Amino acid sequence: MTAQVIDGKAFAATVRGKVADHVAKLKDEHGITPGLAVVLVGEDPASQVYVRSKGKQTVEVGMNSYEHKLPADTDEATLLALIEQLNNDPEVHGILVQLPLPKHLDEDLVINSITPSKDVDGFHISNVGLLGTGQKSMVPCTPLGCLMMLRDYHGSLSGMNAVVIGRSNIVGKPMAQLLLNDSCTVTIAHSRTKDLPEVVRRADIVVAAVGRPEMVPGEWIKEGATVIDVGINRIEKPEGGTRLVGDVDYASCVKVAGAITPVPGGVGPMTIACLLANTVTACCRANGLTEPQGLTA
Ligand code: NAD
Repeated sequence: MTAQVIDGKAFAATVRGKVADHVAKLKDEHGITPGLAVVLVGEDPASQVYVRSKGKQTVEVGMNSYEHKLPADTDEATLLALIEQLNNDPEVHGILVQLPLPKHLDEDLVINSITPSKDVDGFHISNVGLLGTGQKSMVPCTPLGCLMMLRDYHGSLSGMNAVVIGRSNIVGKPMAQLLLNDSCTVTIAHSRTKDLPEVVRRADIVVAAVGRPEMVPGEWIKEGATVIDVGINRIEKPEGGTRLVGDVDYASCVKVAGAITPVPGGVGPMTIACLLANTVTACCRANGLTEPQGLTA
């Protein structure tokens, strides 16, 4: 069997198209333009690339983008004052603070200072609690993207055995919660899990979010299972230079899985698309308007 490849790049383009349609409707019918504010502290090169890409895609779907770049030595009071200003700005519907923050800043404190309804990353403790109790919340973008692709491929996920490898607050735990909310039987595996291959072999759905290049081989995958690879790892090529690989050994898994996301071009492009989706959702909720269909959990 050769797995069907789930094309995250194409899927993300569809999501962006739906967001753009809804943004146009908000402008035409209500004179409202959704706005996303992104705050970057310091000069981390990867973060700069992400922030640039987020700003560009925000404008491409017709929304307003507000970028706030602060020096690496910004103190906590200055950052919190900026967040407070954005919390109170009616033109700003979504606020994202690019992580990681410089070490002297308390990430939890900063994230929890964002008004939950504008927390488009879904990391605020209120949103975590709402998701955990199955209530309407802002959902973290990467797991939301994975869920959208799984729903698109399977329709209903009800009753499926899902194994999430990784228990981070930004991917593993919210992913498991979303799958549970969709009535999967969910196992969260992590660095202390005993007999990981056997645990993974029981899964109809495997989500790998570990950060270890190609650690999941095809022998761990049940025939026909759906494999979602969240990992983004840069490795050296034997001939020199580098390339991106996931947490899954694609070459062996593609032979046994029923469906699989590639790296690059799978989960990655969905993350920013879901950030845009969350911003339009936040804008609709703030204005008491109907939310776009299929863009949230
Ligand atoms: P993290 O380091 O916060 O968490 C990794 C998790 O993997 C931990 O919970 C740990 O228990 C588990 N783990 C570590 N070694 C293990 C092992 N040997 N066996 C089983 N579990 C093990 O990482 P994260 O932030 O969740 O990110 C995971 C991966 O996803 C990284 O490669 C990251 O770059 C990628 N990522 C991609 C996107 C995207 O947009 N596609 C977004 C976020 C993260």
